[in-house]
Amino acid sequence: MDLTSLDHIRTARTRADLVLGPRSAPLAGGTWLFSEPQPDLSELVDLTGLAWPPVEVADGLTVAATCTLRQLADLPAVAGWRSQHLVRECLRSLVMSEKIWDAATVGGNICLALPAGALTTWAVALDATATVWTAAGGAYELPVLELVTGVRSTALGPGDVLRSIHVAPDVLASPATFARAALTRHGRTGTIVVGRRAGDGFVATITGGAPRPRRFAFASVPTADNLHDAIDTIDDWYDDPHGAPDWRRAQTLRLAEQVRLELA
Ligand SMILES: Cc1cc2nc3c(=O)[nH]c(=O)nc-3n(C[C@H](O)[C@H](O)[C@H](O)COP(=O)(O)OP(=O)(O)OC[C@H]3O[C@@H](n4cnc5c(N)ncnc54)[C@H](O)[C@@H]3O)c2cc1C
Repeated sequence: MDLTSLDHIRTARTRADLVLGPRSAPLAGGTWLFSEPQPDLSELVDLTGLAWPPVEVADGLTVAATCTLRQLADLPAVAGWRSQHLVRECLRSLVMSEKIWDAATVGGNICLALPAGALTTWAVALDATATVWTAAGGAYELPVLELVTGVRSTALGPGDVLRSIHVAPDVLASPATFARAALTRHGRTGTIVVGRRAGDGFVATITGGAPRPRRFAFASVPTADNLHDAIDTIDDWYDDPHGAPDWRRAQTLRLAEQVRLELA
């Protein structure tokens, strides 16, 4: 749609161009930015002109914020990366057209911070670390788990830009399993549970069911009761037309037991 509040769309070519004013925002694929009015914005700064390499396979996987969903999905299979299948499983949870698949970016998906953000699920389930560039020219790292803090809410400060996310090689080598519930067969996500073995340990990641991602780690595969009790500490189940809180809680507990049994 036309964004009538905008005065400028500027393309960043170098880091010095990433100066964002109070009414500026980074533009990535634009699939969300151009889908509804943005009355608080007068400028968009297009990140795609920075020409960051979309994916780098070295000491694990580094994905540029501007990597499109299709570029990530099309990464050839890497020998030994037992959790690589999660990319496509997470992406399939997005309700999107072919056009969005080609334009939408990993960074845009994570920074939009929707509870069921497909790349948020993928990144948190793989303990990914985000690198963020600050307005002052510095950088810092934080787990993607801590980057997404709530519905449309992130830990990014004013002028911060997500540069990339990194997944460590041992995590990519660990087996993982994905389970999703929706109210209808092709409906929006109600809840997602990803289970992953981490050495002898077990990690369960919940997205969609709650406003922000949750991660539960155990030194070994937990008992059904232990996993149930851990997940049942969530006390803010998400409520929207795609699922009531009590339904999301019940589905999350059911899927968690399913992934626990698959990985035991
Ligand atoms: C029909 C339709 C269906 C959709 N379905 C889903 C869905 O099922 N799940 C879902 O999660 N989303 C969905 N979306 C929302 C959106 O399209 C996706 O989340 C998409 O991945 C956003 O990526 P983008 O690159 O287009 O982001 P943009 O629209 O360019 O940006 C999104 C937000 O992130 C900010 N941003 C972008 N990149 C950065 C960066 N590097 N650093 C800091 N901030 C940044 C922007 O300023 C903006 O606030 C849907 C949208 C449409 C139109």
